[in-house]
Amino acid sequence: MSSAYDCLVIGCGFAGAVIGRELAERAGKKVLIIEKRSHIGGNAYDFTNNDGILLHKYGPHIFHTNFKRVFDYLSRFTQWRDYSHEVLANVYGRLIPVPFNLNSLYMTFEPHKAKKVEEKLIFTFGLNKKVTIGELKAQTDDDLVELADYVYKNIFLYYTQKQWGTSPEHVDPSVTARVPILISHDNRYFQDTYQGMPANGYTSLFENILNHPDITLLLNYDAVSHIKMKDDKVFLDDEEFTGTIIYTGAIDELFSCCFGPLPYRTLDFEFETHDVEWYQEKGTINYTVDMPYTRITEFKHLTGQVLSNRTVIMKEYPGEYTGKNGQIPYYAILNNKNVELYQKYKQRTDSLNDFHLLGRLAEYKYYNMDAIVERALALADQLCCKEGKE
Ligand SMILES: Cc1cc2nc3c(=O)[nH]c(=O)nc-3n(C[C@H](O)[C@H](O)[C@H](O)COP(=O)(O)OP(=O)(O)OC[C@H]3O[C@@H](n4cnc5c(N)ncnc54)[C@H](O)[C@@H]3O)c2cc1C
Repeated sequence: MSSAYDCLVIGCGFAGAVIGRELAERAGKKVLIIEKRSHIGGNAYDFTNNDGILLHKYGPHIFHTNFKRVFDYLSRFTQWRDYSHEVLANVYGRLIPVPFNLNSLYMTFEPHKAKKVEEKLIFTFGLNKKVTIGELKAQTDDDLVELADYVYKNIFLYYTQKQWGTSPEHVDPSVTARVPILISHDNRYFQDTYQGMPANGYTSLFENILNHPDITLLLNYDAVSHIKMKDDKVFLDDEEFTGTIIYTGAIDELFSCCFGPLPYRTLDFEFETHDVEWYQEKGTINYTVDMPYTRITEFKHLTGQVLSNRTVIMKEYPGEYTGKNGQIPYYAILNNKNVELYQKYKQRTDSLNDFHLLGRLAEYKYYNMDAIVERALALADQLCCKEGKE
């Protein structure tokens, strides 16, 4: 089989699908994509239930980007449903916008106090700025200290403990920075230039990306049982593969976790169907001070189906990834020790010829979808350039 293909791509999420398409289309390569799951799309996979509601199997995925190239690229394969995500935090029954913004401020403090704090925030940071909880906590002004204390206790602390199993101080600052404090009245969760949902869903978008005569896809095909490495050579089903290899799976699994497993957080998703038109007023409600789950997402808000008597919600329960059967590693736990461990695995791949690591698992990082598409396009540029195809 190996000799029939120029490129082997392992994994068919955004990383694998986009690089596969680019190598087939721009470099004229015969591409084999192998995927261990029974479906394409990686964690962005969606499906329609018996009521016609489009659901995201692995948690809510909202597309947003500032990369024009990424938006234009994906727009070749999908039309977009106009959608700006909004999230509320349930703080002891009161629903306030998240990221915490000036509207949240006025819903939390009495008007006179809120006005005073707003002025101080604008004076200190500037209107329309994004501030991390760390930056807010570093302030010395009494009113800003009070605000920082409120936001930390009611928005960050318990949510982070549930999500990461530890307090905000012990998670990488890049993680808490993903949910800033917004010095504006903009209730949208993302402020990116381009945002929306693929009109017919992500799976349909992936089908279109993969629809190329030089792409062959094998589902239910786990690289761990089909790929072996010896010195600088890679073997697919015992036959040496001499072409380009793009690996988007978990790097430790590729080496049987020989240096120990890379730590991750996982999630359990619980779907519930309710016989009402709407369950909640916005796409996602975060439970920041109580409940064992972190958030509830109601898909119809995101995916746009019109149904007057039924809706589906999803509750997310984070936990430690133990590698037990069926568990999925979702979030890399970034700290010096884990990054060092990752580097040990990465070094093992450095000697492999024309072997490239791409994607959230192979690079042991959190990436949004747009960032992964951008990286896949950049790697394709590099490989096409090397081949003299651009
Ligand atoms: C709960 C949740 C919500 C998210 N929401 C958003 C959002 O709203 N917006 C956003 O931009 N991003 C979001 N993301 C991030 C998004 O999921 C990632 O950016 C995206 O999945 C990265 O694509 P990928 O191809 O790197 O990884 P994946 O999607 O994980 O794809 C990797 C693929 O490789 C396959 N694979 C792994 N090992 C092997 C093997 N040994 N053999 C064969 N195949 C293998 C896997 O089965 C999988 O299909 C979210 C992530 C999570 C966890």
